[in-house]
Parts: sequence; structure tokens; C-alpha cells
Amino acid sequence: MAGAKWVYTFGDGKAEGEAGMKNLLGGKGANLAEMSNLGLPVPPGFTITTEVCTYYYDNGKSFPADLDATVKAALAGMAKLTGKTFGDPANPLLVSVRSGARASMPGMMDTVLNLGLNDVTVAAVATASGDARFAWDSYRRFITMYSNVVLDIDHGHFEEALEDYKERKGLHLDTELSADDWKLLVGKYKDIVRKELGKDFPQDPQEQLWGAVGAVFSSWMNARAIKYRELNSIPASWGTAVNVQSMVFGNMGETSATGVAFTRNPSTGENALYGEFLINAQGEDVVAGIRTPQDITEAAKIEAGSDKPSMEKAMPEAYAELCRIYGILEKHYRDMQDMEFTIQEGKLWMLQTRSGKRTAKAALKIAVELAQEGLISESEAVGRIEPGALDQLLHPTIDPKAERRVLTIGLPASPGAAAGEIVFNSDEAEAAKKAGRKVILVRVETSPEDIHGMHAAEGILTTRGGMTSHAAVVARGMGKPCVSGAGQIRVDYAKGTLSVGPTTLKAGDFITIDGSVGQVLLGEVKMQKPELSGEFGILMGWADKVRHLRVRANAETPEDARTARDFGAEGIGLCRTEHMFFDEDRIQPMREMILAGDDKGRRSALAKLLPMQRQDFVSLFTIMQGLPVTIRLLDPPLHEFLPHTEAEIAVVARALGVTAEQLRHRAAELHEFNPMLGFRGCRLAIAYPEIAEMQARAIFEAAVKAAKETGKPVIPEVMVPLVMGVPEFDLVKSRIDAMAEAVKKETGAELSYQVGTMIELPRACLRAQEIAKTAEFFSFGTNDLTQTALGISRDDAGSFLGSYTARGILASDPFITIDRDGVGELVKIGVERGRKSRPDIKLGICGEHGGDPASVGFCHEVGLDYVSCSPFRVPIARLAAAQAALGEVKAKEG
Ligand code: ADP
Ligand code: MG
Ligand code: MG
Repeated sequence: MAGAKWVYTFGDGKAEGEAGMKNLLGGKGANLAEMSNLGLPVPPGFTITTEVCTYYYDNGKSFPADLDATVKAALAGMAKLTGKTFGDPANPLLVSVRSGARASMPGMMDTVLNLGLNDVTVAAVATASGDARFAWDSYRRFITMYSNVVLDIDHGHFEEALEDYKERKGLHLDTELSADDWKLLVGKYKDIVRKELGKDFPQDPQEQLWGAVGAVFSSWMNARAIKYRELNSIPASWGTAVNVQSMVFGNMGETSATGVAFTRNPSTGENALYGEFLINAQGEDVVAGIRTPQDITEAAKIEAGSDKPSMEKAMPEAYAELCRIYGILEKHYRDMQDMEFTIQEGKLWMLQTRSGKRTAKAALKIAVELAQEGLISESEAVGRIEPGALDQLLHPTIDPKAERRVLTIGLPASPGAAAGEIVFNSDEAEAAKKAGRKVILVRVETSPEDIHGMHAAEGILTTRGGMTSHAAVVARGMGKPCVSGAGQIRVDYAKGTLSVGPTTLKAGDFITIDGSVGQVLLGEVKMQKPELSGEFGILMGWADKVRHLRVRANAETPEDARTARDFGAEGIGLCRTEHMFFDEDRIQPMREMILAGDDKGRRSALAKLLPMQRQDFVSLFTIMQGLPVTIRLLDPPLHEFLPHTEAEIAVVARALGVTAEQLRHRAAELHEFNPMLGFRGCRLAIAYPEIAEMQARAIFEAAVKAAKETGKPVIPEVMVPLVMGVPEFDLVKSRIDAMAEAVKKETGAELSYQVGTMIELPRACLRAQEIAKTAEFFSFGTNDLTQTALGISRDDAGSFLGSYTARGILASDPFITIDRDGVGELVKIGVERGRKSRPDIKLGICGEHGGDPASVGFCHEVGLDYVSCSPFRVPIARLAAAQAALGEVKAKEG
């Protein structure tokens, strides 16, 4: 580390860093440098690198020896640019100390403003600004923030003191307090510090500065930050940078302000400046939601029906400057920006810019429009959308026909609708979710301590805070519906109630929130499936142009098949026929079939099932018109269908002409110790060929019928489950082929079909070369393959898998993302060996992994032909497949 550069300066139209240096400078520092380089008005400062953070933790929380001198030099540089000197009692430079990791972590790390103030410098600031109120207001803010962040004194103490003071004086708003009021309060605040800390509030600016820098590094390891990193897969090793920046003041009266703005609407994607600001305030006021902010544009103000003036009207010059700058930033970064700014006596200063978080809906619209505007290419647009985020668009909304009993209205903070029981705290939300209940988390406002509750809840409702409050920002990121700032609601945490006027609801009562319009509704309101926007179709079209993998769906019911087609599925990759037998009218003959003592009994029960099964397939083939449909023969252990109650047993016994006692005996025979590895899959077809024959007949007769009716060819793919080698496969295949011959003869129709197998046992991967001699396709059943390769039963994994992933023994849950090193290796072997005997063998995957973006990437890499996933995940898989293809192109070019 000798000779390492620990500090990078910025300001006055130049910087030592730039936007590409996020790893070293953190996102905030890199972009402050970039904005300086662009010549934008950025208060000068410097960034202490993330390497110092790493050093700090590697060396018992100490700083590199030469850091102090480097920081002093950087502060001297700031003095040159500002004409003020840090620590100078007569002409003090005040700074902010701001954290900034590589990835933005909203609200996770704390910022200290107005650092450098003390009993002496506060007077100098008052004199220099000619505004004693401003000076003392800044000082009290500094003591509060510094005490909270650095000295670990609960800010509640200061708030209490302030509230008491206001009450005694009959004052309501902070803005009503005079210089003398704040001066008095500063005295009280210092008393609080002395009492809580046992020593005085630090007066030495150098001590203040190093205390704050250390606190920023320490906060990297606080519980909230750790939790956030865990939820967002951010490694602890990245560390955070610290930015020290000269202060600009939004609290210098009516010509000063602070605000947050997005270059496009982060909720809808609309191409219009969007944001909020507060006059005579400092940054933390906006985020904390203590005062309700004002709109930036006049249009937004009118739309919201607000009675407070917009920035456009109240500060036209600063507004024009903001518009100029946002145009520059968006063109430069070629993406929607989230900007923080402060106006000091009419002059606008930029304090932050970054790519803005947005809803999936906004992400689509923005990506498509940026491409149409020529700022990015179509492929870049495809790469801009996180496949998993599409889930948000597939969220339900409120049925327009449903009655809306509106309890109250708040801000439409994050779109989509959700219904659930009211809970008032995050631990309860988490517990309820575990118990299988749906909840809406209701809070006055949320803080990073609520992340787990927000995760567990269907939706979030707050009574305070604007569109950029913690609740709103985090909910949008999570894709959860959120209504914020519903100010008419009174929450009583102690009683567990919320009330609006005369209406009182208690914990456990149902409410529905509509985050798209900000409504809070009584009861559980009916939802409807989402409608997809034009941009969705356009972007999917671009994705389809670049991807190689085809995407099919796992579907049995006509409804699922239709959904799958609507979402662009190119066939059915897995039709689980057993799912078709659980219906009321099916389970009866199914039970007869299973429990029949002989061939004859089985055949007569199967004869009842045949027409129903045939009709199922006719509907599927008709919906999927001309697209491939893979049908898997009966797979699960038979005992899953057994009758349980005495009444059920009696019915089956009567139908079979046996006693209940005999039936119970037969059922007991079917008991298995480990059904997952028991009498299931092709083992059923081998023991009871008549089952496979009935299913094959139903498939072929349906194919003939549907082809005739639709005029489109039907090419069924019959799939034999759970083979361990070629003998099983050939045996079952010969029965299927014979049935195809029979149906051809009987109907006189042409019949094309394929017979293939599901590869879901390690042995089948190893024997793939032989199996492929007769099998015309492989579908990797990665659910079972994961269970059998890892020897982990998915249903029993809950008790230990979490600790495995937490400790890094497994990189991620192997049932969600394919275990590349193990299961992936087996798939590769299966692919290679299968292709040896049949180069054009059709290869697919049909486990849950087919809808997981990372696993789709793997399938692309190993050259499968298609993935098959649940209908709602089809768009996700299409996009993930496109990104995998683009990634490959990029890797080749780079
Ligand atoms: P966060 O990461 O939580 O957004 P920031 O470091 O961006 O924290 O600080 C929060 C707010 O504090 C900023 O949006 C800005 O309003 C205010 N702020 C930070 N530094 C300065 C500064 N040098 N001058 C004026 N305000 C500042
Ligand atoms: Mg913060
Ligand atoms: Mg910020």
C-alpha cells in the first residue's frame, strides 16, 4: 500500500477522479468528480477512497499514516477555492462528511452536515452571513446529526427538547424559531450531550472531522448496512468511500432551498423533470419527510392540486439552471438521473447524481424511449432491464369493476395493488408472512430497520413522508405497492389501531392499497391481472431478435396455456399429467386404478380416465396451435392419490367391489419410506404398462383430432420421466410406438410425434450417449437432478439450507439458481454425450431454474435449445436469454 493515493480532489471545473472510478471512489464520489469535470457547479471537496476503508478494517480501525497530511493538503485546496479555511475561527470553512459505496445504499449510511461549527465559529458564520438565525439553526442541526451519527446519542433526546421548547413557546413550525430560540436550544443540546456522553460536545474541528470519517467507515458494518448488503448481494469487502465537501446552505432564507429531482418520472417513466424541494431547508429535511415538500414543476403542482408554489414559479432562475443541467447529465450518462441539489441565495449547486432507481414500468419506458431518441442502442435497452424486475409488471391491479370503499388517500409511491391484514411493525409482518398470512405494513414512516418487514409485506402504507421518503424509495426498489404520506391516518402503535375520522381499524383487519393512485381501501378488494404496456411489447421484440434460446412454459390447464401464449411462450416444455388427475371427477377413477388388485380392474378404471385425458390434450393442442407440446407420462408416487378419509375409502371400495378393510390393506402396501426415490417415474410405466398406454393413446387420438379441427399440425413430444438408462427408456418407448401405430391404423391419419426423456438422475447424464440413440429429445429436469445430485430433499432443505448459503458453503439456493459446479457439470456431460450419438438432439430444461435469469444464462452457455418455466416467468426468461446472448457477443468483442 506504500505510495497509495488515498485522496482524490474535485471542484472548480476539474477533478482527479471520474465516473469510471466507482470502485475506488464510491458512486457518489465518482459522480461528484464527473460533474466537476463537466464544469457543473459542484461545491469543492475530496473523496477518501474505499481502499482506506479496507485499510481501516484490516488494521484494527486505524488510518494509514500519511492520510492526515493528504487530507490537510486537500483542505488547503478547498480553502483556495472557497476563500474560507477549515478551523479558522474568524472565517471558517464548513463541510459535509458523506459516505458513498460503489452501489447506492439509500438511507443506509449517514451524512453529517455543517461540520466545523463550534461555539466560536458559529459567531463568525453569523457575522459573515449577516444572519444569526441561519448560523444557530446550522449549529443545532450539526450537533443533532453529529451526536446521532458519530457519538451514538439517540436523536430522540434532541427532538424531545425541541418539541418541549416549541410547546412552551406556543410555536408550531421550526421555521417560526428565531436566532435566540436556536441559541437557547443549542445550549440545551450541549447539556444533553454532556449528560449522555459524560463529556462535552467536541469543539475542535479536526477532532470533529476525524470522528465523522471514522463513523462513516464504522457504519459500513452496522446492522442496517449489513442487512441491506445481504438483501442486495453486495459484498462486505467493497467498503465505502468518504466524501468531504464544502457546505452550501439551503437554509439561508426564502431564496435558498434543497431538493431531489429525477430527469424522468421514476414511477411511470414519463419524460419530464420530476421531483420535490423545500425552501429554507437542509438536505435531511427532504429525506426525513418532516415537512411536506413542494413540487418542482408547475405541471406536477397543478396535477397534485397542491397549494404551495412550484420551484418553477417560486425560483424561476434556479429552475432554468436545473433544467439546463439535467439535460447535460442525461445526455452525458445516457440514462435517467436522480439528482440532489441545493440552492443558496438563488444559486444552484449540484450535490449528487446517479442513475435513478425506477419501477419496472418506468425502466421499460425509459429504456425504449432512450433507444428511440438515439441515446442508446436497442441492444443496450435490452440490457438495461433487470429480468427479475419484470415480475413487478405482472403484479395484479384492482379490478376496475370492484367497489372501492376509499378510506383515505396518500401519495402513489410505488405502483401495483395489494391487500392484506394490517400489521404495525416489521417483526410482526415477518412472523405473519412465515405463518402464510398476507399483510400490509402500516407505519408512520419507515426506516432502514423496517427492511425485513417491508420484504415480508404485500404492500406498505405510511402516514408521513413524500415520494422520495425512505418507504417510497425502498418499496419501488422491491417492486412492492406503496402508499406514502397518507396524512389523515392516525396510527396508535400502543393500541394497535389506525383511524381516519370516525373509522377505526385494528391490527388483523383487511385493507387494500393501490400504489398506482395512492388510495387506501377498506377490506380485501378484487384484483385483476396486469395489462402490459406498448413499451413492454417493443422491448420484448428487441429481446427476441437477439436471443438464441427458445422459451416454453410449464402448463397443464388451458388457462395456464393461454397465459403462456400471451406472454410469448413458444410451446409447452412440460405438461405434468398428474396435475390433471386431482380434479374432483378424476381422482375417483384414478384411485380405482391405483388400488385395483389386478390388470382387469386397472384397465376398467383407465378406460374411464381415457376420454377425460384425451379432452385435456385436445384443448392444449388447440391453444398451442402448431407449437410443440411436451407431455410427461405419469410421474409421482402413487400414494399421493390415495383416499384419506373413511368416506373416500368407502366410495373407492364400492366401485372396486372390495371391502374397506381390503382397500386399506392395499393402500398400506403402497406406503413408502422415501417416495421421492421410490415407486415413481418410468418405474410406474414399467410395472403397469397399461397406464402409459392409456396416456399415449389419449395423446395420439387428441393429436389427430386437434390437427383435424385446427388445420395446424400437432407434433406431440412424449416424455418418459426418471430413466436411469436406456433399457427402461426403450421398454416404455416400445409401448408408446405400438400405441401410435394402433391409433394410426384406427384413424387412418398421419401422425408425427417424438419420444424423449427427462434427464433427472445423475446416472442418466452419464449414460446419455446410449439413451440418445433412441431418445429424440432430452429435457433436463433440474429440480430432481438437484435433489439427486446434491442428495438434498427440497422439502426438507429448509432447516439447513439457509445456513449453508449464509456461510457460503453453497453460493446460492440450488433450487432457485442452478448449482453450476455440480448439477451444471452433469447437465454438460448429458449434453455432450447425448450429442455424440444424435448431433441434432433437441435439448431443453424444465425445472424451476428455467425462469431464473442466472440459470437461463447457464442454459444459453451450454447451448440448450430451450428453457421451460412457469407462464408468468416467460417474459423474464425471454429477456434473460437475450441478455445472455448479448453478454456473449460483448465478451467476444472485448
Ligand atoms: P444520502 O446518501 O443519504 O443521500 P448524502 O451524502 O447525499 O446522503 O447527503 C444527504 C443530503 O445532505 C444531500 O442530498 C444534500 O441535500 C445534503 N448535503 C450533503 N452534502 C452537502 C453539502 N456539501 N452542502 C449542502 N448540503 C449537503
Ligand atoms: Mg443518509
Ligand atoms: Mg444523497
